[in-house]
Amino acid sequence: MRNWKTTKTLRLLFLTLPAMINLQSTGFCATSVSANVAVPGPTAPIPAWIEQLSKQTGLNWYDIAAIHQYEFNIHKKNNSDQQTHIYIPDRWWSGLLNPHSDETNPGIIRVFGGIGQDADGDGQALRTSRNDVTQSFFSYLAKNGTSEKKLEHTLLQFYEDPNIVTRIEEYREIFKHSNSTSLQSFVFPIPVKRDYSYKDTWGDGRSWGGRRIHEGTDIFAPYGTPVLSVTYGYIESLGWNKYGGWRVGIRTVDNLYFYYAHLSGYAKGIKQGTVVKPGEVIGYVGSSGYGKIGTSGKFPPHLHFGMYKDTGKHEWAFDPYPNLRRWEQAVRKRR
Ligand SMILES: [Zn+2]
Repeated sequence: MRNWKTTKTLRLLFLTLPAMINLQSTGFCATSVSANVAVPGPTAPIPAWIEQLSKQTGLNWYDIAAIHQYEFNIHKKNNSDQQTHIYIPDRWWSGLLNPHSDETNPGIIRVFGGIGQDADGDGQALRTSRNDVTQSFFSYLAKNGTSEKKLEHTLLQFYEDPNIVTRIEEYREIFKHSNSTSLQSFVFPIPVKRDYSYKDTWGDGRSWGGRRIHEGTDIFAPYGTPVLSVTYGYIESLGWNKYGGWRVGIRTVDNLYFYYAHLSGYAKGIKQGTVVKPGEVIGYVGSSGYGKIGTSGKFPPHLHFGMYKDTGKHEWAFDPYPNLRRWEQAVRKRR
């Protein structure tokens, strides 16, 4: 659905991308956790390297986790290595005025004001060493202060993009409130014991608001049926949207964006900035939308459920139907 949120990030919607993406990919899970593991509740402690780095730098573990997660989402090539996804540009590593952008001498780097350090004691500050990179980066970030405000300022200096800093802060809230970095649990967005029905309607045409393509799955259910958050996430947008009516947009640390539309109302305590967990009630099925604020009843009550993936550079919608089927079966099996 268009206008599903307002953002300055470049938005490219590819309708032909694979129907299902790998929902197990994350910066922290050494072993992938399947969607039919029991929900909810954090399942693993904070990774040791994050705790150690937190002690060493004074940064909160969830700030480290959030920054690392951002870097991982943008720069990961595969899941084989958990720490070496951090990208530090030449001039930051070796120093702005250093004529040698590939400088590895920690003393010379220091003279030129670069951030590169030798963490593993081999006498060289190497951008190919995971220890050197990780320690250099987080020491630099902690240097000007570890409070929320100070860290925000330093992140803005480094990334030079407020949208990136906002995204990192959303991750931080998710990690902090979930008290875990292991957030790979999913449920079906309607309680499976309720009456509902849905089929694959990806790409269907629709009648209202000009020629648009259906980007999501409609789950038909009676008015007032609870709508559940499918996973851990941050409520990025909430309120009226002329197509979606009363809607909620939820971001995950894996840069998935879940869009729930046509609600009759929101659950208590659900607002922009709330961190939710799998199975948490966020609102109720309705038929709001297709008009000015408060419009309702132009179509049968249903939940419009959309999924979007954001790589940091591109954003696209993909068909949620295969995942919905999987989560539904997993929840039924657990009961
Ligand atoms: Zn729909």
